[in-house]
Amino acid sequence: QLDARVRIKGRGELARLGTSFNSMAAAVQQSEEQQRRLIADVAHEMRTPLSNLRGYLEGLSDGVIEPSRELFVSLHEETMLQSRILDDLQVLALAEAGDLGYTKAPVDLAELASGSVTAHRAVAAEAQVALTVDASAPVWVEADQDRIRQVLGNLLTNAIRYTDKQGQVLVRVRAEGGEGVLTVQDTGVGIAASDLPHVFDRFWRADPARQRATGGTGLGLTIAHRIVTDHGGRIEVESRQHVGTTFTVRLISSREDPGAAFD
Ligand code: ADP
Repeated sequence: QLDARVRIKGRGELARLGTSFNSMAAAVQQSEEQQRRLIADVAHEMRTPLSNLRGYLEGLSDGVIEPSRELFVSLHEETMLQSRILDDLQVLALAEAGDLGYTKAPVDLAELASGSVTAHRAVAAEAQVALTVDASAPVWVEADQDRIRQVLGNLLTNAIRYTDKQGQVLVRVRAEGGEGVLTVQDTGVGIAASDLPHVFDRFWRADPARQRATGGTGLGLTIAHRIVTDHGGRIEVESRQHVGTTFTVRLISSREDPGAAFD
């Protein structure tokens, strides 16, 4: 590995130049290391499903495996998951390069949450999870509506996905100290305390088997974290295993309430 650093003597202008050169070299090395790690992670993620697909296709063409509708449905689901992983990676790569192009405007978090909950009613009903929303008064934040909807969608999908039948998911929106606060609380499987520091890591999941079965990409929370921090906000998680999980998103309030002019 190339080491571009220069040895620094003294404290003059040249030495300062040397110091800033060294920190630039370190940054380049770090971003190269991050890229290498990303490629390794992606290769690792895609290898197993691709070799599964290959195995089935070879079995089918050799006549060792009987074609069935069920098999084709599962192969189709597998390829859909791969497409979703690539879509998510693209969003993440754009965000990391600062190219996601946020269009910010005042957004009513309460309305956004209600809409998102409505959009997830069918999935929740199918999972036999009770989904409720507590967002009556408008809460205005400065945000890119579509991206925040994506964050909420990821949190809601997870809450439903990791909650067993007869469980509950509650979405709440409130204003608090110059911030719009959104919580997604579930009575699901929870996350072990030792796992909590990893939930926002790329491709991390507590239980890869369950995650695979439910069609997740392992990137949803990484993307949510990225979008929220790009907005100058925060996303936090609290959880107890077998009790439930609460994700809290805090976004900066918009200075003006666009509805105020009409009051
Ligand atoms: P995915 O859900 O696609 O696996 P995410 O990045 O959205 O990927 O979540 C990463 C992991 O965090 C999940 O695999 C799961 O183990 C855990 N997790 C996320 N949300 C919840 C939740 N509401 N309850 C329990 N575990 C969760």
